[in-house]
Amino acid sequence: MRLILLGPPGAGKGTQAKFLVDAYGIPQLSTGDMLREAVAAGSDVGKQAKAIMEAGKLVSDDIMNAIISERISQPDCRKGFILDGFPRTLEQADALYHMLEGKGMEIDTVIALEVDDDALVERISGRFTCGNCGEGYHDKFKQPAKEGVCDRCGESDFKRRKDDNPETLRTRLFAYYKDTAPLIGYYHAYRKLRTVDGMADIGDVTKAIRAVLEA
Ligand code: AMP
Repeated sequence: MRLILLGPPGAGKGTQAKFLVDAYGIPQLSTGDMLREAVAAGSDVGKQAKAIMEAGKLVSDDIMNAIISERISQPDCRKGFILDGFPRTLEQADALYHMLEGKGMEIDTVIALEVDDDALVERISGRFTCGNCGEGYHDKFKQPAKEGVCDRCGESDFKRRKDDNPETLRTRLFAYYKDTAPLIGYYHAYRKLRTVDGMADIGDVTKAIRAVLEA
């Protein structure tokens, strides 16, 4: 199964992708995570992406297309994958179409998560993750059971993303509505689009996505 999760920052793409990885045994390809790793490693791509990401703008299509083209050629993507954060522009969507076409493949389904802007601000400004295992938490919605200790791995090294602040979020939302939201029409035209209410509880959103995928 080749799946795209589409939605604004804070819609729950990453959270849902993690459940789907477990349910379907296919990898999550998060371009945001890949770029953050490149920044941390100080690679050429990381050096080019750092300031753009901190400003909440989009990294160039050429860089992103090259990253994804390389990643989907890896053996673990043979059975499928979940794209989280890619494509983010019409140009990326076209490039993805041609990359897959060249391998005799196509995207099966695009799930658009619908969430109100006010909820996005609240979700993003409170989120943090375990720096060791990546488990996601939130100041209001999901605190660790024992304060300061990760439920999953027991470590105490939590991180907040630099771009999860109200000012950068405004730029990220602008980029979403200007460059990424047109993909909703694009995939509707290709008859791939399904919409899911992303305002529901995390577990209910997962159920709704699974219902779409199993229909
Ligand atoms: P995310 O973790 O998906 O919110 O991505 C964090 C940041 O990485 C974005 O604000 C962009 O600066 C950059 N980024 C991630 N994916 C893409 C993409 N497909 N195209 C352009 N920039 C991206």
